[in-house]
Amino acid sequence: MKKYQAEPYKIKAVETITMTTQKEREEYIKKAGYNTFLLESSQVYIDLLTDSGTTAMSDKQWACMMLGDEAYAGSINFMHLQETVREYYGFKHIVPTHQGRGAENLLSSICIKPGDYVPGNMYFTTTRAHQELNGATFRDIIIDEAHNAQLDVPFKGNIDLKKLQALIDEVGPERIPYVCLAVTVNLAGGQPVSMANMRAVKELCSKYGIKVMYDATRCVENAFFIQEQEEGYANTPVRAILKEMMSYADGCTMSGKKDCLVNIGGFLCMNDDELYQKATELVVLYEGMPSYGGLAGRDMEAMAQGIKESVNDAYISHRIAQCRYLGDKLIEAGVPVVRPIGGHAVFLDARAFLPHIAQEEFPAQMLAAQLYIESGVRSMERGIISSGRNKDTGEHNRPKLELVRLTIPRRVYTYAHLDVVAEACIELYKHRNNIKGLKMVYEPKVLRFFTARFEPLS
Ligand SMILES: *Cc1c(COP(=O)(O)O)cnc(C)c1O
Repeated sequence: MKKYQAEPYKIKAVETITMTTQKEREEYIKKAGYNTFLLESSQVYIDLLTDSGTTAMSDKQWACMMLGDEAYAGSINFMHLQETVREYYGFKHIVPTHQGRGAENLLSSICIKPGDYVPGNMYFTTTRAHQELNGATFRDIIIDEAHNAQLDVPFKGNIDLKKLQALIDEVGPERIPYVCLAVTVNLAGGQPVSMANMRAVKELCSKYGIKVMYDATRCVENAFFIQEQEEGYANTPVRAILKEMMSYADGCTMSGKKDCLVNIGGFLCMNDDELYQKATELVVLYEGMPSYGGLAGRDMEAMAQGIKESVNDAYISHRIAQCRYLGDKLIEAGVPVVRPIGGHAVFLDARAFLPHIAQEEFPAQMLAAQLYIESGVRSMERGIISSGRNKDTGEHNRPKLELVRLTIPRRVYTYAHLDVVAEACIELYKHRNNIKGLKMVYEPKVLRFFTARFEPLS
């Protein structure tokens, strides 16, 4: 088989993208306070800000949009979504939400009491924000290897069982409502969790009556890595691997905007009847009736179709190949990136790229801004800004990983686009010594990375 297989789809509709000059881009990024989130999409050439909601839907999914049953209650599309989730994920109950954080809000509000601890394999921004909002303390229990960007080992998303046991011994199982296990781990570089690890986490938690809730956002990508790299799964279809993964969880939150191949949507799943009952009581307050949860009927239908398409082996292996194609080009040129290349993005290691810029001068933030100026490619900081401040001391959290994420939207760009991205990164790397740091001039209280503003240090 080809190392980077050709697209398993052909193009039926096209969207023209704008080209800009470097001079224009210098103006645009200055106006945006050196924050790529604040650029207008019309100012961007290749948009690798996120893989969230940026998916190209298939012709079948667009056909689903015409099958929307927009009844206020009991929509047929909800039935289809429920059937599909039961079949492909295996959970008993599903509550649709407008996107992943809607599901996180429900789960955190129902399960967390003030003073609780929620351990997880590294944090995710919105996930941790909801846990903390409900009075929990987040504890990172990912294996140490995950914090070492250059270390090329498989399954860097695994939970360290010793760290989990230590937390249980320290605070007691009754103060741990659930373990939040992300498959894959976005902030570690899209790193997967092994099936053996999921099984072991479930076993340990069962002993203490602690629930295991997955952040299932990129579960299909995780399933692909298991098929490729974990012993005994080489001949198992991704679809079956996914179902086995989910059998070691009590439920999950899902951002449909990622692995379910839609532009908006999400859901919360669980097997527990009482938890479902509580979720249906709360969802009417924040989202809508339990049978639509903030989504139009057509969106639920498209998501059901997307779930089916997402487990197609040709689709998922091409998706991972695209990430590796970009990553391998950068590695060949000596540009420091997180290894191994994960499932949804290539992460530039800004610490190694710009060792002359201190972390509190925001090297990753500046690198993302410079990449935009150089090429019109939009990326995102995943470092000290994204990590926020300690909720007790008010100090910056200082993650070991200071990264720029080049996120590949699903089914949107071609290998030729990725060539442009690679060339821009390589060019920037040659001139890295000319890049200086930033100072933050506006800082919002929560999830500051979305809207913070910066100025270059002179
Ligand atoms: C995107 C994302 C979420 C939140 O989902 P939204 O649909 O953006 O609200 C949660 N966890 C992870 C790992 C994500 O990447």
